Amino acid sequence: MVFGFGRKAEVDDDDEEEEIELVLFQGALNGQEANLKENQKLVQAGLNAAKELVTDGLSRRAETIRVDPKGERSQVAFVVDGMPYAGGKLAKPQGLAITQMLKLLSGLDIKVRNQPQVGGIKAQWKEQPWEVIVQTKPIEGGEQLTIKLRNLKEKMITPDDLGMPEALRTRIREWTSQHKGLSLAVGTPNTGVTTTAFGMLRGVDCYLYQIHAIRSLGTREVINVAQFNGNPGDDLETTLMRVVRVESDVAFVDPVTTPEIAKTVFSMQEQITILSEMPAKDCATAILQLVQWVGDPNIVANGLMGVINGKLIRKLCPDCKQAYRPNPKLIAKVGLPSDTKTLYRKPVATENEKGEVEEPPPCEKCNDTGYFGRTGIYEYIEMTPAIKELVISGADANAIRTQARTDGMTVFSKDALRHVAKGITSLEELQRVFKPAP
Ligand SMILES: [Zn+2]
Repeated sequence: MVFGFGRKAEVDDDDEEEEIELVLFQGALNGQEANLKENQKLVQAGLNAAKELVTDGLSRRAETIRVDPKGERSQVAFVVDGMPYAGGKLAKPQGLAITQMLKLLSGLDIKVRNQPQVGGIKAQWKEQPWEVIVQTKPIEGGEQLTIKLRNLKEKMITPDDLGMPEALRTRIREWTSQHKGLSLAVGTPNTGVTTTAFGMLRGVDCYLYQIHAIRSLGTREVINVAQFNGNPGDDLETTLMRVVRVESDVAFVDPVTTPEIAKTVFSMQEQITILSEMPAKDCATAILQLVQWVGDPNIVANGLMGVINGKLIRKLCPDCKQAYRPNPKLIAKVGLPSDTKTLYRKPVATENEKGEVEEPPPCEKCNDTGYFGRTGIYEYIEMTPAIKELVISGADANAIRTQARTDGMTVFSKDALRHVAKGITSLEELQRVFKPAP
């Protein structure tokens, strides 16, 4: 049993504890050798506990584990598919030992406790390679520990994995097949903008076009994309010119975050298709930001192919989702087709024929959260003639948004309904995702 956070162990009737394979730590990402000999006390107190905590996170499919010292205890929390769940509490010395042990294994300085540190560990679990990122931050009463877990084999980066609608995939192929023009993934930072950008990259027809990345692909596996290493000291423009000279069709570049980068990509987009990402509240705001950075709406209107904003939503657990007959009024209100007879939701207690309340059975697959994995919803703005005209005339974001809807481009709420209609997600999940910020 791992800490007893999971309820699985409690419902086990026999005394035999379920054997859970513990994670294997295989060395610090920074190559620093952990000196276990000199830290034997710490190893004794922390190594197994650290392995158990990380394993617990892995078996819950957590992307993040947090350990927060609070008084005499440390509170553990797991983030699964973007949702935080409270884990158990650790005695303070144990929380401390785990934190110090993970620092040691990540090649960080265990003597330093008054400064934030970031490192990582190469790991293996259930025959899959994992990356365990370890972050510590001093807070009142100790150090806060954040562990990020990433399966290096899991590649949620194809348009299919990302749930891109067919219409959008067609737009991406069209935008990136003209040997010119800039296409951007946009969105609030840390909401999956980079994932959307990689999805766009994978949406390019890589059998027809030569694609070069002049940014780091990290540990993501992207087939048929060549890494282009610029000369040290070369700026973006020089590197892009060199990519043009090797007869590349598409360049995947670092995020557009400054007026200088924006000017450079627009000055180069006549010679090569450029794909990137940029932080912005939404699609229309991104276009206006580009106009401001570049200083000439004509350049943006004619050089930009389109912008895409993506958001991740949770998928219902296939093992325990519950079918129900929705109220026709609700169907009409949310805009689902009027002949929708069945929708799905996270299982709720139901009444049987005898009028007794029946609790849903426990679900091992999703740990009774009702959800398993995520998919994407999208909105985009393509630079149609009407949108171009609006941008050139200095229209505001609202006018651009209205025109995009008139031209039939999807918005989040509408795109999300396609997943609801197919039973992939629930109306409750959409409500959660779209509820106004507090
Ligand atoms: Zn389930």
